[in-house]
Amino acid sequence: MTATVSEHRLLIGGRQVETGEWVDVRSPYSGEIVGRVAKGGAAEARQALDAAAAALESPIPAFERAAILDRVAHLIEERSEDLAGTISAEAGKPLKTARVEAQRAASTYTFAAVEARKLSGETVPMDASAAGVGKLAFTLRLPIGVIGAISPFNFPANLVAHKIAPALAAGCPVVLKPASSTPLSALFLANLEVEAGLPPGWVNVVVGSAGAIGDEIVADERVKLITFTGSGGVGWNLAERAHTKRVKLELGNATPAIVCADAPEDTAAKLAANAFSFAGQSCISVQRIFVLADRWDSFVADFVPRVEALKVGDPADEDTDVGPVINEGERDRIVSWIHETKGDVLTGGEVTDGLIRPTVIANPSPEDKVSCDEIFGPVVSLYRVASLDEAIERANETRYGLQAAVFTADLKSALRAARELEFGGVTVNEAPTFRADQMPYGGVKASGNTKEGPAWTVREMTEERLVILQL
Ligand code: NAP
Repeated sequence: MTATVSEHRLLIGGRQVETGEWVDVRSPYSGEIVGRVAKGGAAEARQALDAAAAALESPIPAFERAAILDRVAHLIEERSEDLAGTISAEAGKPLKTARVEAQRAASTYTFAAVEARKLSGETVPMDASAAGVGKLAFTLRLPIGVIGAISPFNFPANLVAHKIAPALAAGCPVVLKPASSTPLSALFLANLEVEAGLPPGWVNVVVGSAGAIGDEIVADERVKLITFTGSGGVGWNLAERAHTKRVKLELGNATPAIVCADAPEDTAAKLAANAFSFAGQSCISVQRIFVLADRWDSFVADFVPRVEALKVGDPADEDTDVGPVINEGERDRIVSWIHETKGDVLTGGEVTDGLIRPTVIANPSPEDKVSCDEIFGPVVSLYRVASLDEAIERANETRYGLQAAVFTADLKSALRAARELEFGGVTVNEAPTFRADQMPYGGVKASGNTKEGPAWTVREMTEERLVILQL
């Protein structure tokens, strides 16, 4: 351990907590230690839950919650280069992509501040029934209680923001367990909330053993909602175990895009950029492209050179498009899926200097893992199809349902695809990887059971109390 490695404590009840043990955070690119974080477990999770429950006893009025959220947004903007550097160092995300994430985290706080200011219930038209005549009724939106938040490695800042910012907007204290490989960005944001004036206990961050911390969050009756983003196996298991709580899941996808014969000129450019950004480690990274036969030859001729032109290398370099995947185990899994496929590898497929070259596979079998599971790596498959009917049917042949895309100049085809693709969101003439932070974003089927985006999350994190007045 060199003296220059930064050390970070857990944030519990407003205090910086040491535990005597440390988690080393390593660069996925070089393997060097980029920071170390105090390692927590069940005991620290319980302290954090106690601190959150105590915070709930002293509610913060909406105008103050909104002002804190706005101040955090400004602080992120002021320190966006530091945050982007932290994201890039711990996740191996190319710096230019990390900068976009830092900006998006600021906008997530801004949208959460808006929601804090306008959170309100509804009036009920009581005299619409004879029984209601002479009564006035309305709902109050009340904080649901303590929130347990569990976040993944791939957007270590903005997906944390999508949990802790709406929680504060809703008036709920939160206990966050970030991914063990990327806890630094989460602590960065939580500490900015403290700097922005958040009283103790409203945000608590416990890094360490997922099972031990997760079990405490599941078992504690004061936790009324768990918000989880990550893999389906972990998420659905949490939902089963925490059946008395609201468990909101944002999970994976095997993202399809349909390219019709009349797709716009820039279709290949958009899809090439969005299949390989952050080495394909986005839940809506383009994975399966269904190309109609009339467009097949020209699309392949346009797409493959664009993929080959992407710059693969050190995520800290300004020009890098594609960096490492999160660890060697994931790298080996992805390569083994490429080796198993029955399709033709048109480009890539090998590992150079520890990095998977961006890989394009033509016509793998529907049973290949690259077709039916979430690859979460720099690999995209192209499928030649005879018709829009076939494209929609095959795009839907997946247990997942997060986002999908169709590229066409024909409004009827676009609207048909939008109706028939069984996904939480459908983009038209835009990569399915597109997300703006005010959107309702979330999947159906195995991809989850909720919509994230501050306006939607705040409603999940509150409950309606009906008040009936006899006049
Ligand atoms: P993961 O392995 O499921 O981990 C996600 C989080 O769950 C981490 O904080 C992890 O902690 C924690 N965890 C693991 N086991 C747990 C347990 N038994 N109890 C409680 N928590 C537990 O997922 P990941 O590899 O970080 O992320 C990739 C996945 O996330 C992909 O499937 C991707 O599609 C999905 N994702 C979905 C969205 C969306 O919005 N739909 C966005 C981004 C990513 P440790 O790190 O300590 O193991």
